[in-house]
Amino acid sequence: MPTSDTFGDEELNDAAAIEIVREGFPRGPFRAALFDFDGTLSLIRRGWQDVMIPMMVSHLAATPTEETEEQLRTVVEDFVARLTGRQTIYQMIQLADEVTRRGGKPCEPLDYKRQYHDRLWQQVGRRVASLREGVAQPAELSVPGSQALLVALTKRNIALYLASGTDLNYVQDEVDALAMTDHFAPHIYGALDDYKQFSKAKIIEQILGEMNVAGKNIVGFGDGYVEIEEVKRVGGLAIGVATNEETCQGVNQWKRRRLIEAGADIIVGDYRCLDELLKTIGA
Ligand SMILES: [Mg+2]
Repeated sequence: MPTSDTFGDEELNDAAAIEIVREGFPRGPFRAALFDFDGTLSLIRRGWQDVMIPMMVSHLAATPTEETEEQLRTVVEDFVARLTGRQTIYQMIQLADEVTRRGGKPCEPLDYKRQYHDRLWQQVGRRVASLREGVAQPAELSVPGSQALLVALTKRNIALYLASGTDLNYVQDEVDALAMTDHFAPHIYGALDDYKQFSKAKIIEQILGEMNVAGKNIVGFGDGYVEIEEVKRVGGLAIGVATNEETCQGVNQWKRRRLIEAGADIIVGDYRCLDELLKTIGA
C-alpha cells in the first residue's frame, strides 16, 4: 500500500462520517460479528506495508527484469493489496512467483515471510513491549472507538469472532496487549504453519454452523479485500474500515476505494461514530 503521503489532499477530515455505499444492505438482527485484526482493531502493526513493499521491490529489482523500481512498486502494491487479509504466506508465494516470472531464483515463501517478519518486528516488538510495560495505552494503538464498539456488540448478545492473517501466536499476544481477549475468547483465529487449515471463509462456515444462523445475521468488519468478499459471499453486512493508520483522522481514500471494489456496504474511518453506526445497521 502506498505510504500516507501518497494520498495528499485526498485525505478527508471527517472522522464521524459513515458512508453508505450500497443501500439495501442487511439490517440485523445480527447474531455474530467477524473482525479482522490489523488495521481493523489493532494499529500495533501499522506501517507493515512500508516494510513489506520495499523488501519485495528489492527482490524483484535483483532479477534480470528491465522494469524500473517504480513499475515494480506498482506491481507489488497491487498484489499486496489484493492479498491483504489472507495469511501473509500468500503474499510471499506471490513474490516467489513474480521473481520466477522475471527469470530470478526465488527463495522459499516461508523464508521470505521470516525475513519480512524479522524486519517488521523491530517496530512491532517495541510497541508490544511498551503496551506490556504500561508505557503505551491500548487506545493509542487501536483504531479509535474499538473498545466501545466491542463492548456495545457484546451487550447486544452478538458473538464476536476474530480472524487474522497474522500468525496465531502473535495475534493472541497482541489481542491480549490491547485488552481485547475477553471480548473474543475462545474465538481468536490466525495463520497456521499448515496454512491450508485456516481461511476466513472457513471461519465464516464455522460461525454459520455453530451458531446456526444465516449469512445475513453476520456483520463483518475489515480493512482488507478478503474479509469483505467472504462476508458478502454469504450475504452478510460488510463494513469496510478505511482508517488512516498514521493520523487516525478521516478516511484513507486508497483503502476506501479498494474496500468498495471488494463489495463493502458501508465505509467508516473509525468507530467514533458508534451510536450512529449501530443505529444505521439496526444493531
Ligand atoms: Mg487488516
